[in-house]
Amino acid sequence: MKPTHIEHLGIAVKSLEESIPYYENLLGTKCYNIEEVSDQRVKTAFFLVGQTKIELLESTDPEGPIGKFLEKKGEGVHHIAFAVEDASVALAEAETQGLTLIDKVARKGAEGMNIGFLHPKSTHGVLVEFCST
Ligand code: ZN
Repeated sequence: MKPTHIEHLGIAVKSLEESIPYYENLLGTKCYNIEEVSDQRVKTAFFLVGQTKIELLESTDPEGPIGKFLEKKGEGVHHIAFAVEDASVALAEAETQGLTLIDKVARKGAEGMNIGFLHPKSTHGVLVEFCST
């Protein structure tokens, strides 16, 4: 399943409060949504750049995925999310191609999207997310 575009870039930050003004200034646009995704133990903040979003991720739990990422690598780009027609189908296709999945089927992510991740071990070090509406 071919992605239509980059839906968003996920960027891990220590603090939304501290990083939002920087991104608002850099991008010349206001953060349009802040949302807690308790499932992933993050608080997210979104900006729109063309049809691509920037998703800032602040950890709400040091043992959660973003908490661990910040501990190990510090702030920075965390994942790249591709828009696909159906995230579950894209995940299943990736698996038949021999890629390792984090999510076997899509689950609900921020903004009500269906999302699923490929494991960075099988994607040359980049955490890849598929996203569909
Ligand atoms: Zn994401």
